[in-house]
Amino acid sequence: MAVYAAAVQDLIDELGRLPGIGPKSAQRIAFHLLKLSKDDALRLATAITEAKARVSFCRRCYNVSEGEECDLCADPRRDPHLLCVVEEPRDVVAIEKTHEFKGRYHVLQGAISPIEGIGPEQLRVKELVQRLEPEAITEVILCTNPNIEGEATAMYLARLLKPLGMRVTRIASGLPVGGDLEYADELTLGRALEGRRDVDA
Ligand SMILES: [Zn+2]
Repeated sequence: MAVYAAAVQDLIDELGRLPGIGPKSAQRIAFHLLKLSKDDALRLATAITEAKARVSFCRRCYNVSEGEECDLCADPRRDPHLLCVVEEPRDVVAIEKTHEFKGRYHVLQGAISPIEGIGPEQLRVKELVQRLEPEAITEVILCTNPNIEGEATAMYLARLLKPLGMRVTRIASGLPVGGDLEYADELTLGRALEGRRDVDA
């Protein structure tokens, strides 16, 4: 006999698929949702449906975007020759908050992780390389997270990009090692960007 009604179990299963949500949290959130008024629950469901319908990825930088190109790529005040490579759209938000960076971005949509079977082919690396020449990029700043996957990704990209003749830099240390960019405070992240160094590869 099933522990929960099928619909409840479906809800728990779907929530459990979300990043960082274990089985216990999935159960707790499911029962919280069931206690909501119909209007509140519908608002959440509609927000998910609307976001999926309206938001996709920028065709140039792979940041989230409501149009074909995101606001940052479309902004003529940004330096078009300076490119900051990050793992996820949330990292773009973290860097924008520092007000230290005036170039454009490229979102890899992940990091190299052999354990999870993620290699460069699963990331937006090919798309990055294809941008460099047409956009006359002179410097690529590797702004991946200061953890094992982020460092491996930065090293891989440095080896790939340096021979192509542009400046390749890595954000300075000073960020908590093993951490995520999004948890770094604005001042620390701003300083890390300012103190970026050329990568030897
Ligand atoms: Zn974009």
